[in-house]
Amino acid sequence: MYNVHDPEPVLIVGAGLVGLTTALALHHHGVPAVVVEKHPGTSIQPKARRFNFRTMEVFRAIGVADAVYAAAEGLAAHQGMRAGRTLVESEPLPPPPHVDYTDLLAASPERSCLVAQDLLEPVLLREARDRGIPVHFQTTLADLADDGTGVTATLTGAATTGGALAASFGGRSAVTPTGTGVRAPGAGAAAGSALTVRASYLVGADGAHSTVRALLGIERSGLGVLGDAVNVYFRADLGALTAGREFNICQTEHPAAPGAFASVDGRYRWMFMTGPLLPAADDPTAPPDPRWADLVRTALGAPDVAVEVLSALAWQPTMRVADRFATGRVLLAGDAAHVMTPYAAAGANTGIQDADNLAWKLAAIRSGTGGPELLGTYHDERHPVAHHVAEQSALRTGGLRELAPPTLDHPFALVAGAQYTAGAVVDDGSGPQPTDRLELSGRPGTRLPHLPLADGRSTLDLAGTEPVLLPAPDAAGWRAAAEKLSVPVADAGPGWPAAAGLTGDGALLVRPDRIVGWRSRTAADHPIRVLTSAIDAILAR
Ligand SMILES: Cc1cc2nc3c(=O)[nH]c(=O)nc-3n(C[C@H](O)[C@H](O)[C@H](O)COP(=O)(O)OP(=O)(O)OC[C@H]3O[C@@H](n4cnc5c(N)ncnc54)[C@H](O)[C@@H]3O)c2cc1C
Repeated sequence: MYNVHDPEPVLIVGAGLVGLTTALALHHHGVPAVVVEKHPGTSIQPKARRFNFRTMEVFRAIGVADAVYAAAEGLAAHQGMRAGRTLVESEPLPPPPHVDYTDLLAASPERSCLVAQDLLEPVLLREARDRGIPVHFQTTLADLADDGTGVTATLTGAATTGGALAASFGGRSAVTPTGTGVRAPGAGAAAGSALTVRASYLVGADGAHSTVRALLGIERSGLGVLGDAVNVYFRADLGALTAGREFNICQTEHPAAPGAFASVDGRYRWMFMTGPLLPAADDPTAPPDPRWADLVRTALGAPDVAVEVLSALAWQPTMRVADRFATGRVLLAGDAAHVMTPYAAAGANTGIQDADNLAWKLAAIRSGTGGPELLGTYHDERHPVAHHVAEQSALRTGGLRELAPPTLDHPFALVAGAQYTAGAVVDDGSGPQPTDRLELSGRPGTRLPHLPLADGRSTLDLAGTEPVLLPAPDAAGWRAAAEKLSVPVADAGPGWPAAAGLTGDGALLVRPDRIVGWRSRTAADHPIRVLTSAIDAILAR
């Protein structure tokens, strides 16, 4: 099914959450991918923990949601927020009054979950390897050249000497002496050899300090650095202390130890997020200042608890978005494309939506069903959304008692209310998606409305690896046109017209990433012509 002129795999740089999800999403669409990662394993820091229902919908589509929920079981009872002078003195905080959880439950077949990034990444890695996706650690991208027909990448590091890495590229690779001509600033070319490999496309999922972005000379815009923070990652048996006080985040307001605890495994591993009250390091392996343990005990309100600080890392909440998300055959995804403050818990979640967006487009281009311009719609669609989410994140603070100002987007509209207004979508004149509430009603560019189907699935499960027509029950004209054009058709049930803003004879096209690509509320005089033009617009051909 691949374009015979484009047989090489897609090279993914970075085996973080976004790189691994991209590999799984490409595999779901039948595209071979190879992942390289400079570190010896996945993240050793817990970092992100909240994965929203839109992320879980992506995991559902690529077949890993159950494994992710299983990994999240440890924190299933740790969902609430607390605040107080110390953890011992803390009280539960009520949910924000402006959030309508009934809307949320009706909006998706999936639920958000809490699982630390250092537990989630090994799950994604296992799922990738189970599907035969090669993931090579201790392999650093040092250079790349895009000649318009493919990307030649220079890889360095311990794994370049064995035959496995070269074999992943089907023998289209060459070992060369290290060092010479390697352009990446700080890419860390290791002693030994460099491997030159050929990929059809390259995805830079290589984090905030992206080598790929630097090699392409892509600048970033945004508010920049917005503060100074320290993450104290520690081990302590807090089982007795937190029994009856389970929390996702517990804010402490002690004047000597202001900050917030975050549950990592709910029993032994925890994070204390605070300011630069004591010296902190940039390197997670640097020995932490021993006074951090006393500060943690003060914040706990438990002077006798044994606390082992594993790291005290300095970091800066930052908002910066790359000016281009794609150039030629190279794309940026995740933190490489956008860094944001963590207060809306949106960084990793936004990156996972990038993966969902780019995977089907690369698949369509490679198979020849999509035109080459489809790749440009990745930037057109994801850049404004990522910029908006990063901006909204920057407006929020870490303070749990401070409610979001009323001018901010509804928190779940931020999760699921994005609308692609330019890109692989056809405008039907229905106007912009509201951002002050969670409303998904079939506007082109928005996530398909979820309705439970009679067989227990969701309308979201009707999306395929190419655009699918979802007609209203009496849309015989659209059905016949789809049959004539070999467009797949799926039945969304009797409630579908109302949910999707259709009359009884309207229809819509859902893209593989479960985004509405085109909608006609009613029947049309020339359905074959209209449907052909809609499919051509979505697939940029
Ligand atoms: C305290 C904190 C809390 C957070 N909480 C949340 C949350 O609740 N929800 C949320 O959505 N987000 C959260 N985030 C943000 C989230 O952690 C990041 O957005 C996420 O890690 C980005 O994933 P990524 O895969 O894009 O990049 P990374 O996780 O940075 O992965 C990039 C990978 O690329 C590798 N790499 C880099 N250069 C090269 C190279 N040249 N060659 C090969 N490999 C390379 C790196 O080693 C790394 O493994 C939080 C962040 C912090 C700091």
